[in-house]
Amino acid sequence: GRAWHLTARPQGWPTTDDFALREEPVRAPAEGQILVRNIHLSVDPYMRGRMSSAKSYADPYKLNEPMTGGAIGVVLASEDPAFAPGDHVLHDLGWREYATLRAKYATKVDPEAAPLSTYLGVLGMPGLTAYAGLLRVAGFQPGDAVFVSGAAGAVGSEVGQIARLKGASRVIGSAGSDEKVKVLTDEYGFDAAFNYKHGPVAEQLREAAPSGIDVYFDNVGGEHLEAAIDAMNLHGRIAVCGMISQYNATEPTPAPRNLAQIIAKRFRMEGLLVMDHFDLQQQFVDEVAPWIRSGELKYRETVVEGIDNNLEAFLGLLRGENVGKMIVTLGD
Ligand code: NDP
Repeated sequence: GRAWHLTARPQGWPTTDDFALREEPVRAPAEGQILVRNIHLSVDPYMRGRMSSAKSYADPYKLNEPMTGGAIGVVLASEDPAFAPGDHVLHDLGWREYATLRAKYATKVDPEAAPLSTYLGVLGMPGLTAYAGLLRVAGFQPGDAVFVSGAAGAVGSEVGQIARLKGASRVIGSAGSDEKVKVLTDEYGFDAAFNYKHGPVAEQLREAAPSGIDVYFDNVGGEHLEAAIDAMNLHGRIAVCGMISQYNATEPTPAPRNLAQIIAKRFRMEGLLVMDHFDLQQQFVDEVAPWIRSGELKYRETVVEGIDNNLEAFLGLLRGENVGKMIVTLGD
């Protein structure tokens, strides 16, 4: 089976020269292991961080070894009593066609309960990030006005809709294309949305949120964070989930120049890591899955086909070519 390797650490924007798709032996499972054929692979922004050698919350990818990442597959052979051929599993050996892994690192998923790809997106890691980040880290309360950046992406689109369904007074989103902005207002029920490429974020946010905001869910950092601080109401909260505008930066990026407003406004700002919130996984699925079934919470996926296009899908994600979760499908 083929697997993607990182062959050089990217400087700035990753290029195809930093990666190679290579043939790997398919290993039969040993005691306690399963062999899986992957069906859907995830590409996520955090993978950019793992391509650098800098120490962070996820270990750097090793050079010239198969890369890892979220994946859904079907069990072909099992040497563990908990799994049988035909079972569908979520695991972390993505970026490849076949995976042999310890069974305890796999989670069974039910293809009858929800489409398999949703376990990587709206019902998976990005969904829990949205749920825990909004409700726990940002301490969302009904009546809050919520602003989310990266709002047409996997995490952002769910943040905005959970806020709407839980009684936000106003939901505002920003995204990088007019098509995405239209999806936010027409499909996801945001009260207002704007294209951050059309003008200064601070000005556009002021227009979209004339009474200010109480919560900012940050996926982007930089100019967006500064604008959100300007718009923040007394005792507001900022959940910092990601700063994707800086992931390819080669120089240290400036902090928000208006941070001193934190004093007079007494707002709180807190970073968030999804792995701190796995205890909410069941509560999250119990609450969100019915909204998906009833159509109250909508989601999109951008699906790219074939292992050959796994890298292009990742690069496309950084360029904003996805609406909703970016998925690579290898076919059933
Ligand atoms: P998305 O589906 O949102 O895809 C990434 C999006 O980022 C692109 O579609 C693009 O949309 C946007 N983007 C890219 N460059 C820029 C830029 N310079 N300025 C503004 N927007 C940009 O990805 P996810 O939903 O998976 O992740 C969203 C954020 O959440 C990321 O920052 C990620 O790192 C973070 N995250 C953090 C987790 C945690 O535990 N802390 C867990 C999961 C995600 P557009 O067209 O709008 O520019």
